Amino acid sequence: MSVNVIWFKRDLRLSDNASVNDAISRGLPIICLFNLDAQRIGRIDVSGIHIEWELDCLRSLARDIQELGGVIKFNFGNIIEPLEEIHQKYTIDSIIANEETGLQWSWHRDKLVADWCDFNQVNFIEHPSNGVVRKLRTRDDWKKHRDKRVSAELFPKPSKLLSPNDCQSDEIPTMDQLGLDARVLENRPKPGEVAALATLNSFLNERGRNYRKGMSSPITGEVMCSRISPYLSVGCLTIKQVFHHTVSRQRQVKVDPRTADNRGFTSSLTSFQSRLAWHCHFMQRLEAEATMDEIAINPELDELLNRQLDQRKFIAWRDGKTGWPFFDACMRYLTATGWINFRMRAMLQSVASNTLWLPWQATGTHLANLFMDYEPGIHWSQVQMQSGVTGINSVRAYSVGKQSTDHDPDGEFIRKWVPELSNVPKEHIHEPWLMSQVEQEEYDCRLGIDYPEPIVDEKSARKSGISMSYKAKGDPAVKRRAKIVFDIHGSRSRQSGRSRN
Ligand SMILES: Cc1cc2nc3c(=O)[nH]c(=O)nc-3n(C[C@H](O)[C@H](O)[C@H](O)COP(=O)(O)OP(=O)(O)OC[C@H]3O[C@@H](n4cnc5c(N)ncnc54)[C@H](O)[C@@H]3O)c2cc1C
Repeated sequence: MSVNVIWFKRDLRLSDNASVNDAISRGLPIICLFNLDAQRIGRIDVSGIHIEWELDCLRSLARDIQELGGVIKFNFGNIIEPLEEIHQKYTIDSIIANEETGLQWSWHRDKLVADWCDFNQVNFIEHPSNGVVRKLRTRDDWKKHRDKRVSAELFPKPSKLLSPNDCQSDEIPTMDQLGLDARVLENRPKPGEVAALATLNSFLNERGRNYRKGMSSPITGEVMCSRISPYLSVGCLTIKQVFHHTVSRQRQVKVDPRTADNRGFTSSLTSFQSRLAWHCHFMQRLEAEATMDEIAINPELDELLNRQLDQRKFIAWRDGKTGWPFFDACMRYLTATGWINFRMRAMLQSVASNTLWLPWQATGTHLANLFMDYEPGIHWSQVQMQSGVTGINSVRAYSVGKQSTDHDPDGEFIRKWVPELSNVPKEHIHEPWLMSQVEQEEYDCRLGIDYPEPIVDEKSARKSGISMSYKAKGDPAVKRRAKIVFDIHGSRSRQSGRSRN
């Protein structure tokens, strides 16, 4: 019997799934397949929290598949193993998958599958599933392609999946059963497609009202940001779906922006749409350069900056023990929950690269491990941008002091996440190192004993980082490379402000 295989990678959903739609239209019995690549487990950018989230979402997908009469096979190892097994038993006509924009290892895996298909005379069909354009010739037309892609009609959720009569689904194993572990996260989101849509809808109808103003603070951002990123990262939701739901909400708001339900949403939804476009823009960078976790897109600039891994600074940064209260609170919050808002992510990375002068590969890898929503295309683009190694972006050196007073003026976030400072009053909470000995005793916070002294003088270290960055950016070889980088990766949208993304 001939069958078709839907190979699920990072697209754990049935709705708006081009591969599912295609496989159904071909009429042959279908076997759904998920392979947990064993090589990923050993990768330094992959954490147990990523695998656990993936397995939870996969379990939800497996239930949906079986409810429609379908079957799902699970393998932990090399993708070729289950393909061989299925092919021997049934003869695979086609393997149908969605394109994945990933790091180099994922290209090697896909190439392995393509070669196996060639050898076994099996069709290998891949569909685009977001705004990333494969084999793009020039960035000039990219936006046109992206906008067309995301506004295209959604693929419907199937009502039935035809499967071979003698094929049984596999149980999706737990982390324990696989011998894996993950750090425990606070407020972990619910897995699956239904939860993904519910999260999006609660944002579009209620939580997103003050998104534009609220997104920058870790306190308000926790509720006012959409929180869809973990779902996008494993494909429980597509950018296309998010785009469509947002457009329909924008139309509703436009009819009468002043009703109680709609007030505040106009500008917030516009800002949200730009973030969705950024998602695709940054993913497109990785599509063009799959080695962005190791090599800067402006290698000449990176070489001149010559950052060094100072273990003492790295450990203080990693553990949220720098002696800068707001920074430490953000790092500890992220470690505990697996999420933090954009501005604070940018600060965590920028401080590592520009103030502490640590190599971005090491700090970016640590952040990848902390983010539950790790998405290599966005992550490594942002890590490189915040570290100033693209040559086409302005130098972004965040002041911890400014972020602290702007986004946590009373120190409530700091006190919650840095309990060593819980008795320190507002006037000292941003700069506890200025407390006198008597004040330190009074507030139970002795510097160097209960809470560290600042690891370096933040202001002067940041200034020195900025000036080294500007100097390196002016180098002729760096400038020449920046022109090439802009051709391949630069945003073509007109910029009124300081930087090109
Ligand atoms: C150093 C650094 C690393 C990052 N790593 C990741 C990562 O691994 N995975 C990830 O999804 N995002 C990453 N981001 C981007 C951004 O911080 C997150 O997308 C966002 O905080 C996720 O929360 P949300 O879904 O509530 O976002 P919202 O603000 O509600 O935005 C909605 C969606 O738009 C997209 N988006 C928002 N901001 C950006 C941005 N600046 N660039 C690209 N896309 C964006 C995301 O898909 C996001 O889910 C990183 C940012 C920085 C500075």
